[in-house]
Amino acid sequence: MDAAPPLSPAVVVLGGGTAGWMAACLFAQAWPRARVTVVEAPEIGIVGVGEGSTPQLRALFARLGIAEDAWMPAADATYKTGIRFDGWSTRGGYTGYFHPFASAIDLHTAGAFHASALARRTGHAVDAHPDRFFLNTRLAEAHRAPPAPASFPFEVGYGYHFDAHKVGGVLRAHALTRGVVHVARRVDTVDVDCDGAVAALVLAGGERLTGDIFVDASGFRSVIAQGALGVRFVPFASNLFCDRAVTLPTPRSADAPLDAHTIATALSNGWAWAIPLTSRTGNGYVYASDHLSPDAAETELRSYLGLLDTDVVARHLTMKVGRVEHAWRANCLAIGLAQGFIEPLEATALHLTQTTIQRFIQAYADDAGGPQHRDAFNAEIARRFEGVRDYIVAHYRLNQRGDTDFWRANAANDHLSDDLKAIMTAWFTGRDVAAEVMRRDLADYYSPLSWEILFAGYGTFPDDARLTPAPSPVDMAGIDRLLGGCLLNFGDHAAALART
Ligand SMILES: Cc1cc2nc3c(=O)[nH]c(=O)nc-3n(C[C@H](O)[C@H](O)[C@H](O)COP(=O)(O)OP(=O)(O)OC[C@H]3O[C@@H](n4cnc5c(N)ncnc54)[C@H](O)[C@@H]3O)c2cc1C
Repeated sequence: MDAAPPLSPAVVVLGGGTAGWMAACLFAQAWPRARVTVVEAPEIGIVGVGEGSTPQLRALFARLGIAEDAWMPAADATYKTGIRFDGWSTRGGYTGYFHPFASAIDLHTAGAFHASALARRTGHAVDAHPDRFFLNTRLAEAHRAPPAPASFPFEVGYGYHFDAHKVGGVLRAHALTRGVVHVARRVDTVDVDCDGAVAALVLAGGERLTGDIFVDASGFRSVIAQGALGVRFVPFASNLFCDRAVTLPTPRSADAPLDAHTIATALSNGWAWAIPLTSRTGNGYVYASDHLSPDAAETELRSYLGLLDTDVVARHLTMKVGRVEHAWRANCLAIGLAQGFIEPLEATALHLTQTTIQRFIQAYADDAGGPQHRDAFNAEIARRFEGVRDYIVAHYRLNQRGDTDFWRANAANDHLSDDLKAIMTAWFTGRDVAAEVMRRDLADYYSPLSWEILFAGYGTFPDDARLTPAPSPVDMAGIDRLLGGCLLNFGDHAAALART
């Protein structure tokens, strides 16, 4: 790939999971003259979990020109205002908090939150729990749909929940209308030439698929990148201990209001997600196999969901947590689970996949895929993975449970990156966390506000007994009035979905 890129490269995508079809759609859209082929083995199947997104998925559908009413009903999708974390801290007043997606109205309340959090961590008795300060938190509490009506002149960030199989089907259908070729065959071997580039994928039966760019979207197998090209895998096991998951769907109760947020509840050796779809609730327990057996995890999840005496079938999954050293090696781009995975606590996998594909398209076009662009691209993607990882690690590190070895080991874990140590130091010494996040160029992964919400959400403040009255308390009643007024603009979540 050191020569000028052809105007219409032949792109071969190995894998028909969400990552593979997302790549096919984006390549076909960016390079309309490209020949894009997706090869997948139906008998292997897709991982089929991954039901929550960040707001970036909205940008994907907008870029592809797929309207919400065209895809959401087809994928049983719901809106997502953020994530509620329950039971990660036992500290009074802080046993749960909400991490909201950003909205433009935050400009009017984030300053007050920042000032309150700073006042409280420097010893003043003010309300600094994040839940009172943000519009998306209020929308979630009231089961409202986050798309802002025309009457409300502030953008509200939101993501989605969806059925992973069905959203893949939506992307596949779109790709096929854009001329993407689908080959339902197993890849048996990968031919690598003497320069270390992929020459062809060899299908069962011997047929060879050649191309200019090979995209490895083969899931945890990573058939091309880690398999044929031997790209090194950098594990995150020293700071993210969870490596297994068990899932159990439950029917959605038609009587209960429909949540517009994910719930992440701490259990004995990990955490359980609850993801509301229009058709069912997706549930899963992410846990550490060093601390809990699969059977015990399934029993604990069944008990938590009230499913001990039912025959709902559980699904057990192994998670390979970490990243490839180089997402782009020779003429191969690794994406999705083949590229790496940072456990699903903040539902960032598809976000990272989308960013990787879009940045690759840009970098490849910039300079014929010259080595300097490749190196810069690889460094950027690696740093992005680590930036997201650090935020996830912080959840575990700041837990205040201490009831099992798992939680104690997380709270005592000192395998922290320099960035994470610096942000934590800034918080605990009363310095400006935002300035530290900006100084370290980390705001693209998680905003300073998200960092402050996380620290405050876990109640990492001085003991209540040591607090003294604040010299200038924030006008909380004013914030309640502002957000309460904003809320009046938004309709019921379930009703809004019924109209899509
Ligand atoms: C427990 C868990 C929870 C998750 N939750 C979230 C979440 O909330 N949000 C989020 O964004 N992500 C989440 N993810 C990640 C998400 O599931 C994946 O990022 C997403 O599904 C994309 O997967 P993929 O396409 O990379 O791989 P897969 O879905 O595994 O697809 C791999 C494809 O490669 C094909 N293949 C493999 N080998 C061959 C071969 N030799 N020949 C031909 N074809 C082959 C398979 O047939 C398949 O089509 C979660 C993951 C796990 C494990």
